[in-house]
Amino acid sequence: MKINRRDFTRLASGLLVGAGGVLTRPLSALAGDGSYIAHYGHAPFYAAHLYPGSSLTLSERALHETGENVIALTFDDGPAPANDGEILRLLAQYNAVATFFVIGSKVGHHIDLLQQMVAAGCEIGNHTWRHPMMTSLGGDSQSDELRQTDDLLASAGIPVRWFRPPYGDYDSLTQTIAQTEALETILWSVDSRDWKGGAPDLIAQRVIGDISPGAVILMHSTKSNTVAALPKILEFGKSHGYRFVTMSEWKQIMIRTDPIATRMAAESKTASAREAAKPTVTEPAASAKAALAEPAKIAEVPRLDGAKAISY
Ligand SMILES: [Zn+2]
Repeated sequence: MKINRRDFTRLASGLLVGAGGVLTRPLSALAGDGSYIAHYGHAPFYAAHLYPGSSLTLSERALHETGENVIALTFDDGPAPANDGEILRLLAQYNAVATFFVIGSKVGHHIDLLQQMVAAGCEIGNHTWRHPMMTSLGGDSQSDELRQTDDLLASAGIPVRWFRPPYGDYDSLTQTIAQTEALETILWSVDSRDWKGGAPDLIAQRVIGDISPGAVILMHSTKSNTVAALPKILEFGKSHGYRFVTMSEWKQIMIRTDPIATRMAAESKTASAREAAKPTVTEPAASAKAALAEPAKIAEVPRLDGAKAISY
């Protein structure tokens, strides 16, 4: 079982950043047009970011402790008739399922493809009607984006409970609208960056390098190199004891591990408080106090360059 140190560091960084200020900015500043997530795609494994609106205490450590080695593969921007059949074939070959976040206006006469996905045990999510930057729209237009896709899928008997905002762009209004439409907003913790291009091996390596229990992986069914990368990703998961699940099953597992994650968080808080309160011979109490008063170290966040080199 491979433990990805970087992910633990990211989790810790996320918490530190939260304490230090970046993640305590309003949600709109965090996830809007110029957001970290929109530019870099890396959401820490941290509820407020990966799963906005959730009250769950996400914890890779708790998942690892309970042996819940699950991964949620997600494919955005479909349906993609040229690739979807092959993706389903590969998933079946590895006894895996995934979640497909589809763009309503692209569905057209490909609704049968989505029905095949559901029949294969996969899940369909809402990726809006036209793939806009949601925060550039007013509330009514945002509602339309979600509702039109929901209605289309409902008319084909396809249940939808998840929403992924295009470009990871959302704010508190978007989230509220999604809730009104009975949709849960989900981002990702691992970005394949397949939208940037790259050979299949590189795409596979980007994913494999960041895999950890509970990972939510962002890929695009529209990219043929992603399909070509998929066998390596699936093979890696299988040989490392991972199980590939839908977003809904992922959520069930997060709920199951939540009490453990909460207990671990409480224990670690108590332990650090105890550690901080411990008097030392070599260190006078005053300097320990001064150390505690120092502001939390803010994890390094890459500068936003303002360029929109993204096409999630
Ligand atoms: Zn997209």
